[in-house]
Amino acid sequence: MRILPVAFLAAAMAAGAMAADDKPKKKKDDPNQIGNRDIGKCLNFYSIEKEMALGKQAAEEVSRQARLNRDPLITEKVSRIGQNLVRSSDAKVPFTFQVIEDDAPNAFALPGGFVFVNTGLIKIATEEDEFAGAVAHEIAHVAARHMTCQQTKSQIASIASIPASIVLGGGLGGYAARQGMGVLIPTAFLKFSRQDESEADYLGTQYLYAAGYDPSGAISIFEKIEALSRTKPGFAARIFSTHPMDSDRIRKTQQEIEQILPAKSEYLVNTSEYQDMRERLIEQDARRKSDTQDPRRPSLRVAPGTANPEDGHDERPTIKRRELVQ
Ligand SMILES: [Zn+2]
Repeated sequence: MRILPVAFLAAAMAAGAMAADDKPKKKKDDPNQIGNRDIGKCLNFYSIEKEMALGKQAAEEVSRQARLNRDPLITEKVSRIGQNLVRSSDAKVPFTFQVIEDDAPNAFALPGGFVFVNTGLIKIATEEDEFAGAVAHEIAHVAARHMTCQQTKSQIASIASIPASIVLGGGLGGYAARQGMGVLIPTAFLKFSRQDESEADYLGTQYLYAAGYDPSGAISIFEKIEALSRTKPGFAARIFSTHPMDSDRIRKTQQEIEQILPAKSEYLVNTSEYQDMRERLIEQDARRKSDTQDPRRPSLRVAPGTANPEDGHDERPTIKRRELVQ
């Protein structure tokens, strides 16, 4: 009988899912391999540099069109959460995170690492792990290069209908590059296929877990957005038009947590900085709304802490054990 080294046994036990069928894990299913696996490999006309230039151009367009929240206390906390998740991801590009004043609980990413989160997402995410779950999903779209992979596919489809002489004359790369740089409206990048959506869910939940958060935060933010879609259908329609909803998304994420994310004794759920940032944002929002409703009326100030009285908190981060998923 072969005696297995203790370290191997420990690793095999930690692998959890592996013990069930003894098959070696695929890298994509192993959160320990994050950063060391070929995520984002597809037939892609865009180099990473081109992708970043395209994203930058589109992000400038968004910044011109959208109303950004530039409060440093809010944007710095959002960036810290985002950069921490990026460090636990497969992404190979630098990221920036910006906050848009918009009540729809949504977030989106442009190619090359430009992420925008709506104030509505922060409002609906009462705990940091829920907010981080949505941000991790966006980081996954970038890591997997969904935008440029898809753009390449549609260019191949359109090139196929162009006479061969034109394609050969202009050069395939040249044609693709000109087409790409002609895209000024970022929404061209924001329609994902269901397959890309599931991949972003799958990878994003791993990043959330690898960053130390409770991975079930990804499920609770989903459930909240779904619940909102019943009371405010217009809001949610905008989210699902860019991130198509599939009835299986919650179930698949539950399965992923059970099968490939070995349980840890503790997870980060919430921090007082997140709570403070969120309260500040809710307060600003209430002030802005009362100001715009009637400019002659004396403006009402919402006292700190009263915006959401259920959110009692102290200075320590909230740590909890992951609950068993039903
Ligand atoms: Zn998505």
